[in-house]
Amino acid sequence: MATKTNQGATVCVSFCPHVAGWPFLMWATFVFMVASRWAAKGRRMFDLLIKGGTLPNGQVADIGIQGAHIAEIGKIEAGAKRVIMALGDLISPPFVDPHFHMDAVLSYGLPRINASGTLIEGIALWGELRDLATVEDMIGRAVTYCDWAASMGLLAIRTHVDTTPDHLRGVEAMLEVKRIVAPYIDLQLVAFPQDGLYRVANGRANVIRALDKGVDVVGGIPHFERTMEDGAESLRDLARLAADRGLMWDVHCDETDDPLSRHVETMAREVTRHGLGQRAAGSHLTSMHSMDNYYVSKLIPLIAESGMTAIPNPLINITLQGRHDSYPKRRGLTRVKELQAAGVTVGWGQDCVMDPWYSLGTADMLDVAFMGLHVAQMTHPEEMARCFRMVTEDNAKIMGLQDFGLRKGGLASLVILDAATPTEAIRLRPDRLAVVSRGRVISEKARNDARLSLPGRPAQVRRRHS
Ligand SMILES: [Zn+2]
Repeated sequence: MATKTNQGATVCVSFCPHVAGWPFLMWATFVFMVASRWAAKGRRMFDLLIKGGTLPNGQVADIGIQGAHIAEIGKIEAGAKRVIMALGDLISPPFVDPHFHMDAVLSYGLPRINASGTLIEGIALWGELRDLATVEDMIGRAVTYCDWAASMGLLAIRTHVDTTPDHLRGVEAMLEVKRIVAPYIDLQLVAFPQDGLYRVANGRANVIRALDKGVDVVGGIPHFERTMEDGAESLRDLARLAADRGLMWDVHCDETDDPLSRHVETMAREVTRHGLGQRAAGSHLTSMHSMDNYYVSKLIPLIAESGMTAIPNPLINITLQGRHDSYPKRRGLTRVKELQAAGVTVGWGQDCVMDPWYSLGTADMLDVAFMGLHVAQMTHPEEMARCFRMVTEDNAKIMGLQDFGLRKGGLASLVILDAATPTEAIRLRPDRLAVVSRGRVISEKARNDARLSLPGRPAQVRRRHS
């Protein structure tokens, strides 16, 4: 009997009808078992095999993928329907953006540009646009953006959806976008009362309508309510809502330069009261930049005690904050290193791409990490490496993503970058050579070295240096 394995190895088992009795049966069984194991080993065939990449921890490994999951990591000698050679390239878990506004994405200039560059003019412009934009407009822009995200290895996004207008067209559009991109991007929606929970007539009712329609996360914007008291009350109200429904809670909290704003404190208190812990995230927290150091020495332990996470958005807040300052101008970033030192999980959020608040943006979370690293002065080698973890692992933790990370049995979602290490990836913000989502290669880009025409110099330049 001859068995042809998938790899072409041939296994032979002899059968002799003239030999009988127990010794023969034992011998035959032994030969069969050995042959079966040999054949089974030879048959190992992955759907996708990535050879020789470097993981973020520096380990060089092959990754064998079967279906939507990682079947093996390590030194792999097996066949595959498709092999990607990643020799020396960085293989990372996908990038994650825990703070975005996809209902407004790619709307820069509509209905006109934000001339002052302030948060307030941005909110006013958006207030006009959200009533002009159709559901189809918003779906079209958002799905185009998701193409960008897929090409950059950004495979999980939490987006705030404005629930202010009674028509809830943004909610309708984003629920549809979530359905469209579900095969390759995890999209979480936050019911976000942009104009305040109490400041507009149906602010609270519309948050609840949005949650009833299937929006995943409770939002909030206490610093935009009429008074500090209203803001505090909105936090108590929304925390209860999240706790009662068993939902996550993500608040635009104190996105202001006001050193006396105290909503972060109230939010931490409510997170502790309801035991929300890591299910709650404080977004922006920029007032903490301006606060008195003594007060912050009390506040940070309260935040740590609550277990809540923090999402600064450095691209946006370095441009929006400090607009009322002459000089020195505040950077408007929350106290990232101090929060991390206290044990708080801090991620980096992107917030906006080409919308009423921000005229640039690329869907590249390495741009976000790059800016965050500079503004927070995270220049020690460990801090730079941490900035990479913030836009991958830490952001995944903030979003509560299950099955995230490069490990045997985990979801086969990953990115191959034209860089050798996480820190080099932040420095170069390099091409994504391949993006794999749930076992499927969804984006590829050829390596694109520059060609030099300089006498006596190399013909090609890649700018990698590690
Ligand atoms: Zn935001």
